Amino acid sequence: MARLLRKKYSYLPPEGTVDHLVVGAGVVGLAIAERLVKAFPGRSTFVVERHGQVGQETSSRNSEVIHSGIYYPPTSLKTALCIRGRDLIYERCEQYGIGCKNTGKLVLATSQEQMGYLKALHEKARKLRELGVGDVPLEWLSGEQVRELEPDVGERVVGALLSPKTGIVSSHVLMENLEKEITDSETGELVYGTRVVRIDRAEPSGGGKRGDGSEDGWVVQTLTEDGGGGEGERTAVLAKSVINAAGLNAHHILNQILPQEQRLQLHFAKGSYFSYRGPGVSNVRHLLYPCPEENVSLSGLGTHLTMDMDGEIRFGPDVEWLSPPLDEEGEDVPDFWATRMAVTDERMQLAIDEVRKFLPGVKAEGFAPDYSGIRPKLSKKGETAVDFSITHPRPGFISLQGIESPGLTSSLAIAEMVEQMVREEVHGLGKGRGQNVSERGRLESWA
Ligand SMILES: Cc1cc2nc3c(=O)[nH]c(=O)nc-3n(C[C@H](O)[C@H](O)[C@H](O)COP(=O)(O)OP(=O)(O)OC[C@H]3O[C@@H](n4cnc5c(N)ncnc54)[C@H](O)[C@@H]3O)c2cc1C
Repeated sequence: MARLLRKKYSYLPPEGTVDHLVVGAGVVGLAIAERLVKAFPGRSTFVVERHGQVGQETSSRNSEVIHSGIYYPPTSLKTALCIRGRDLIYERCEQYGIGCKNTGKLVLATSQEQMGYLKALHEKARKLRELGVGDVPLEWLSGEQVRELEPDVGERVVGALLSPKTGIVSSHVLMENLEKEITDSETGELVYGTRVVRIDRAEPSGGGKRGDGSEDGWVVQTLTEDGGGGEGERTAVLAKSVINAAGLNAHHILNQILPQEQRLQLHFAKGSYFSYRGPGVSNVRHLLYPCPEENVSLSGLGTHLTMDMDGEIRFGPDVEWLSPPLDEEGEDVPDFWATRMAVTDERMQLAIDEVRKFLPGVKAEGFAPDYSGIRPKLSKKGETAVDFSITHPRPGFISLQGIESPGLTSSLAIAEMVEQMVREEVHGLGKGRGQNVSERGRLESWA
């Protein structure tokens, strides 16, 4: 796709300059841009978003859960960023009056085998404290104690862990708040209806050579919409640094700057949600999660009960791997998933069977297909889940890929981390250092 795009959109010389260019106005791109605007008030920050509004893709198609940080390996970025991000979200919600609720969550076991899974989670929480990674409090409840708290939970549930730090947030209000902070600033700007179509390294200046760090940045070419869904004007800007936060499209942006053999392929797992109105949930106050059936894989946490800020109940998301059509270079056709968002009745029946294991009073008639979201995954179906990937593969090009759950919870902490990378590795490094500027990068060096 990278080659095809380059053929379609020939090089354009840049017309202006920006210090930081963030691709994508999902919650992660917005959080990063807000942080950069505040951390570097003397430098300009643009966010380029292809849709007409913020958060039209994964950031508005998720469970809106503030996760506690218990599910991921202790030394992973997911754990560290989730715990830090969780605390930052609660603080921010309080500071700006953004809707969020610290509901707490119950992870429910329906067998002795699942009690073993809960024990492992409990032990992990202890380890996280011991290692100084963070505090994820968990409390043991017997089946009876669960039913005292949540009378709708069935007799099959033999025990549970209560996670008091889990909650819900209105992702839309959070994104609107971040958007406002950017647009109210002197140096931040959001550019909507504009798609990044091509990225070239700026030619070396001042007598330098490629690879010696003297490049001026990246020539980012964009295409605006013509208002009728067609292609409008093409233009290019010189970005001193680029931050790729393009979510489901992040690999297509990253692959623009990588040689063929280093190109990345993302994989896609859809999650469907079902709204519910009916008996069997009238008293529910906590988020209710089953134990994942295959607890070796973190690809899904099981079809669980969440609620939004208005108290509307929904179940989901399930996990359905998608097989994308491939282009002539063997890469997935960009945005192929846009035609696969419908939620089907077949998936709904599977969800009802799952939910009845812990909430026996729910009635099939109360379920209705709701919405779906797509997880951008770095691992394939059947492979062990992979950590977030936040890399600095080329000077001044920071790239985030595989930002699946808990990306919403982690967004403000990811922004902190990227700010640090920009401060130390982009602005702090100056010119001429060359080679690997990020210890975190898995792409070790540049040519
Ligand atoms: C089913 C599901 C449930 C989830 N539940 C939770 C949860 O409960 N809690 C939690 O913490 N996390 C959850 N997540 C994860 C969370 O939603 C994501 O990690 C987060 O929204 C990712 O945000 P993002 O900004 O990286 O991506 P996105 O929201 O996808 O934003 C990327 C943006 O980039 C734009 N873009 C792409 N290509 C271009 C281009 N070429 N030019 C310009 N713009 C471009 C897109 O239009 C889009 O707006 C869930 C995810 C899914 C799929």
